[in-house]
Amino acid sequence: MNPKAKLNLLLHKVQQYWSGNAVNQNKGMVENLQRSGIIQSRKVAEVMETIDRGLFVPNGTPPYVDSPMVIGYNATISAPHMHATCLQLLEENLQPGMHALDVGSGTGYLTACFAMMVGPQGRAVGVEHIPELVSSSIENIQKSAAASLLKDGSLSVHSGDGRQGWPEFAPYDAIHVGAAAKEIPQPLIDQLKPGGRMVIPVGVLFQDLQVVDKNSDGSVSIRTETSVRYVPLTSKEAQLQG
Ligand code: SAH
Repeated sequence: MNPKAKLNLLLHKVQQYWSGNAVNQNKGMVENLQRSGIIQSRKVAEVMETIDRGLFVPNGTPPYVDSPMVIGYNATISAPHMHATCLQLLEENLQPGMHALDVGSGTGYLTACFAMMVGPQGRAVGVEHIPELVSSSIENIQKSAAASLLKDGSLSVHSGDGRQGWPEFAPYDAIHVGAAAKEIPQPLIDQLKPGGRMVIPVGVLFQDLQVVDKNSDGSVSIRTETSVRYVPLTSKEAQLQG
């Protein structure tokens, strides 16, 4: 074998080792979340095993540590336990064929998880107001197990102010908001289907993760799940000023 071919073989082996390792570490992260009781269902474990978090964090960022990580533009990818909590809360509203909206989709991690759960007959829509994050999230998704859903159009990510929702594919069975709102934006309530559920952090300094269920008569029931700390749901200008 010539030296170049030898080198390529070696590089291939190293790559295989690292990618295999990443898959194991992602699985290890999921197992930890199961042991701590945050992941309670097989379906949520499965989707978090299938979508490798390592593909969604910037290079050099440890992907499997249970902590939020900086992704630029004064934004963060939420901690794995927050992603798991939101997936658990929304599980019943992420069944095959359903419509899901991810406001403040950032890295695209949760949008990809939603897409896997609602499947090719469903719709998973991400809305993010930093266009650079929209582009990088699409690149992340293209490397992930959700790539074919992006290609066939059942998963899409859009640039825009998520406080307005995304009327094109409304009403939604599930809405997730990944940034803290001062108050729940009315367009998001309007775009929730009767029987639908929204999970949204609400508050400024002290924030609550609220669960908003729309009843069949169109009224909403709201309860608080837990205290949280998210970046604000705000204008692009205010976010970039920090
Ligand atoms: N859930 C994502 C990102 C969480 S950070 C993840 O885990 O990767 C919150 C995201 O909300 C940031 O990417 C931020 O740019 C975005 N954001 C904040 N206000 C917004 C608004 N009004 N419209 C759309 N996106 C917004």
